Amino acid sequence: MAKKNPFRPYTANAEFKELLGTYNGNKVNGLGETALRPPSMVWWTPDMADAEFGEAQMWFYQQEKPDEEMTQLRHQRHQAVAAELPPVATDVESASSETLAQQLNEFVTNGDCEMTGVTRLKPEWIFDHETTELPTVVMLGVQHDYEELKHVPALQGGKDVTRQYLRAAVASKKVATWLRECGYQAEAVTGPMTGKILMIPPALECGFGELGKHGSIINPEFGSAFRLSAVLTNAPLESTPAREFGIDDFCSRCRVCENACPPEAIAPAKQMVRGVEKWYVDFDKCIPFFAETSGCAICIAVCPWSLPDVGEGLAIKLARRAERLNGTARSDV
Ligand code: SF4
Ligand code: SF4
Repeated sequence: MAKKNPFRPYTANAEFKELLGTYNGNKVNGLGETALRPPSMVWWTPDMADAEFGEAQMWFYQQEKPDEEMTQLRHQRHQAVAAELPPVATDVESASSETLAQQLNEFVTNGDCEMTGVTRLKPEWIFDHETTELPTVVMLGVQHDYEELKHVPALQGGKDVTRQYLRAAVASKKVATWLRECGYQAEAVTGPMTGKILMIPPALECGFGELGKHGSIINPEFGSAFRLSAVLTNAPLESTPAREFGIDDFCSRCRVCENACPPEAIAPAKQMVRGVEKWYVDFDKCIPFFAETSGCAICIAVCPWSLPDVGEGLAIKLARRAERLNGTARSDV
């Protein structure tokens, strides 16, 4: 039997609901739309004064009662995001894609991030009010400290979210700086206010993992306990392949996040969103609890893949299960 959810029944805050008014985030996200199209900004706008949901997003920031450490982390993150990049070097020899790939890996070796991947940018990942000429996305992943994350939605867990977004921002600036020093155009895209592109689709495409029912990526090594940033570039880096671990099938049989989500925003089946059938979290159900708790993240913390040292074992079991099923299928022929 599922554990009793301490946050249910949940009623959305009346003040927040009034600020959102008739705003329909699921419609903005393209829920039910069957054609591919670029996404529209639904939350995390860098420009709260102009966005329809700007006052609601501002309310989100007012709910948090930050301690000294959180205030410092937020300040450091703002500084990292605002840091200027050097000009693109013009007097350097171009490096081979193999050399660039090796050097990109060094950001993992040096502890700036835990994952890197590369993919070609698709038009349907660029927000509809943005453009870019840069054809390639370098994705970066930074791992949470699970012992901190597990405390969400309390401040202790929220601090690790900010801590990792700070690391992600610093990493994307470092990678963009390196690429510029190598003579390539490069632009850092720091989460969560990415501004320019969606982060999850390129991270799936470059091999970070599979989309989970909770709408976040699951990676066998890090579960969902990681955050993303990116760099847009014209450097000749080769794409890294998408990977499947059987997580999609696992999610169709697991209900942990569905049961843990206070406002019951996680649907049991995939839905059509802007021309793609995928797991989708009901934005309009999620966002009031997300705002009240300054970021929630319960679904990420409870996902069994996020528990330390669990994911890789699960992936091995899933691979064995797939082998058994394939073997059965073959012997049936
Ligand atoms: S909790 Fe279960 S259903 Fe939800 S994302 Fe994780 S594995 Fe998938
Ligand atoms: S962030 Fe919280 S409210 Fe939103 S889907 Fe996850 S558990 Fe539910």
